[in-house]
Amino acid sequence: MPNLYNYSHVELCELLEQWSEKPFRAGQIMRWIYHQGADNFDMMHNVPKALRARMHEQLCFDLPSVEQEHVSSCGTTKWLMHLGDGNAFETVYIPEKNRGTLCISSQIGCALACQFCATGLAGFYKNLSTADIVGQVLVARNRLRQRLDIEKPITNIVFMGMGEPLLNEHNVFRAVSILLDDLGFGLSKYRVTISTSGITPAMMRLVDQTNAALAVSLHACNDELRSKLVPINKKYSIADLMKSCDYYTQHTRRPITYEYVMLAGHNDSEQHARELIQLLGPRHAKINLIPYNSIPDLDLACSSDERIHAFCAQLIQSGLRCTIRKTRGDDIAAACGQLFGSVVKRKKSIAPYQFLRSTALSNH
Ligand code: SAH
Ligand code: SF4
Repeated sequence: MPNLYNYSHVELCELLEQWSEKPFRAGQIMRWIYHQGADNFDMMHNVPKALRARMHEQLCFDLPSVEQEHVSSCGTTKWLMHLGDGNAFETVYIPEKNRGTLCISSQIGCALACQFCATGLAGFYKNLSTADIVGQVLVARNRLRQRLDIEKPITNIVFMGMGEPLLNEHNVFRAVSILLDDLGFGLSKYRVTISTSGITPAMMRLVDQTNAALAVSLHACNDELRSKLVPINKKYSIADLMKSCDYYTQHTRRPITYEYVMLAGHNDSEQHARELIQLLGPRHAKINLIPYNSIPDLDLACSSDERIHAFCAQLIQSGLRCTIRKTRGDDIAAACGQLFGSVVKRKKSIAPYQFLRSTALSNH
């Protein structure tokens, strides 16, 4: 049975038109679902009874269920959510002084195998549906409202959990439309960010089809090094990536956040900073240095605090905007790139959900 959470506003209007209903009913239904948190049709008392009965017969409300919840000492919360088919994935909430950011997943696992990322090392299992994506926001919002007693605990959404959002673009773009729609979550376009490792053709479509903010996982400024760290660079080189980035900034007049993971001895020297200045100096860019979060068994280390600060200072001195990401939730393995618990080489005999549960559990 089709899941109501998979419909954008436009698609719901189309469905209702096929049923010879007035399109404004779609707005009423969206309000019930996303503003009031309705999870059944009986609550929708301003919707005619006959329509409610038809929806009840032909549509369902299916949300991911929470299997585990871990709250860190700083309030960062990680949920392991599972789907009806047994697959599981993670969602993280990061509270800060004036905002609450939800870091959501777009895929179970990831095919792109970046050298420093636990999700990538675990391999790809499946794309999440639109309902699985907006479901993370609904489930997290409900839980946070109960625990924190705040009406709007989530102010920002970042697609920086598990997976590469631009390899699941249809479901992700539709989810973005629900997140930005006033009748959906009503978030500002500055507060919903898609992070990509650089799927350049899909970045062009992102500009044409969504209003999302863009973050690009750069990590290196020459093709030789970037292809080692982010293997998709062999297919979409830095020159291709910059064409798509320029397309974004020209069409939206908005800056791009470039993420740069700090890996000791690999990409953190003065020369690397000079390359970064050369590449991004002429562009509308913000640089976010991410201290590498350690993944067990990997022969990588985070740059020292001094090196990260010196690197940042060098960029700022040249006129670039640069910040250093504060790592939150590492006591519950909820920091960037740590999703999927710890790295266990994937065994074909282990079903994805068993694998995920065993690694997630072993971490706590
Ligand atoms: N696939 C997308 C979004 C998910 S990853 C992308 O790559 O952009 C979100 C961010 O976490 C990316 O910038 C990624 O490079 C970074 N990341 C991955 N592993 C990390 C690690 N171990 N330490 C710090 N950042 C990491
Ligand atoms: Fe995939 Fe992003 Fe991890 Fe790379 S960093 S493996 S693209 S989730």
